[in-house]
Amino acid sequence: MSEITDLSLNELRAALDNREVNPVEVAKAYIHRIQESDERVKAFITVTEDIALEQAAKAERMIEEGNSGPLTGIPIGIKDVICTKGVPTTCSSRMLEGFKPPYDATVMEKLNGQGAVMVGKLNMDEFAMGSSTENSAFFPTHNPWDLDRVPGGSSGGSAAAVAARECVVSLGSDTGGSIRQPAAFCGVVGLKPTYGRVSRYGLVAFASSLDQIGPFARNIKDCALTFQAISGHDHRDSTSAPMPEEDFVSACTPKIEGLTVGVPAEYFVEGMSNEVEETVRQAINRFRDAGATIKEISLPHSRHALAAYYIIATAEASSNLSRYDGVKYGFRAEEYSNLMEMYRATRSQGFGPEVKRRIMLGTYCLSAGYYDAFYKKASSVRALIIQDFKNAFDECDIIAAPVTPTTAFRIGEKAQDPIQMYLSDIFTIPVNLAGVPGISMPCGFDSKGLPIGIQLIAKHFQEKILFQAAHTLETVLDLQIKWPELKTKS
Ligand code: GLN
Repeated sequence: MSEITDLSLNELRAALDNREVNPVEVAKAYIHRIQESDERVKAFITVTEDIALEQAAKAERMIEEGNSGPLTGIPIGIKDVICTKGVPTTCSSRMLEGFKPPYDATVMEKLNGQGAVMVGKLNMDEFAMGSSTENSAFFPTHNPWDLDRVPGGSSGGSAAAVAARECVVSLGSDTGGSIRQPAAFCGVVGLKPTYGRVSRYGLVAFASSLDQIGPFARNIKDCALTFQAISGHDHRDSTSAPMPEEDFVSACTPKIEGLTVGVPAEYFVEGMSNEVEETVRQAINRFRDAGATIKEISLPHSRHALAAYYIIATAEASSNLSRYDGVKYGFRAEEYSNLMEMYRATRSQGFGPEVKRRIMLGTYCLSAGYYDAFYKKASSVRALIIQDFKNAFDECDIIAAPVTPTTAFRIGEKAQDPIQMYLSDIFTIPVNLAGVPGISMPCGFDSKGLPIGIQLIAKHFQEKILFQAAHTLETVLDLQIKWPELKTKS
């Protein structure tokens, strides 16, 4: 058998069920791998070795009793924005340093119930605001394909940890692209499910009308297995959709005849990398070879999506982040002489610059006299974008597009220029505004050897079609991705 950490979820499942390995050995192999490589990658904020070994022992019992499910004994990493009972959950912010949630998020309850093994909490941009993981208050994460480059963000730790084989799969959150963009930069698969598919109970809120939890994995089937494990209705999240259970894993069959793939003209823009454009177009052609019909479509309001997003998301964030006042959670400033000063000092010291920028922007957009000009207008643009997708899906079953305009950029390259940073989500944001599901999967490499992703988008609650199309493409592309070497490229 090859090395434990080289196995995909599906392969590891078989090895566990056939008793070729046991969950404790698997957990130890991953902890060892983290110790060996995370000094370079810096994906983990907290490594939960003791919990992993305890959960692995429980998984072992479950397997012995014939009670195992798809994730029993599988090492998983969790973005540090998801509440884990008794385990620090920082959102990569000083504001939540030392905060240990008294409860588990619903996704954690589901994973624990199935005997999954949590190996640790993963780095991110502070409060999920960013596209490079450089906004972490603690340290930046490095891209395993080139340690001088960013892994993307905000779920950069989740993407890098999977790419570096420090966990089998991981969870992230996606408000404007934070699963799909880092998945593309790190050469792994990432799914932003339909809004309402996965419970956000216990997800620290950024922009509540956009946030979704989703999985990162090494291949499409592993992604479907993890999505299956975390999705489903939850009465504790009022936005969670009461959908019947579906079998997403069996949707992973290479079958595409009769499917129409829409290609939006607006997603191939001037200024994007030629290599990304060419590689994505070639992948789309492979869909044609596999029997799909390719059709040019239009999402005409896409160019307003970024502006609308930075009003809606910041407005919601300004409201959601008002709860960090030094009283309820985490950090409190040391010096103050009255309550107002305590609030001011706590929030000035506890939040980093990007979070402050967004709170100010959002508060401004919501303030009397500006609400109609900004927030209301942005909501109207959002309605047009939703309609764009509805119209497009009258003409096609799925949409295929790039994930990002470029491959991973260098650490520091965009850190001082928020607009440049915001532009890296230009192709992912419309999907969040519309609430539809989107998946990012590897489709090739650029001349520097950096991964390129392709994004597939489906109608609300059509994840099955998404998995089917993605699995077909994965099969025909047959990329045979080698593991990144965790080195610096010149
Ligand atoms: N990069 C985008 C932002 O900074 C998206 C973040 C996210 O999806 N959480 O807001």
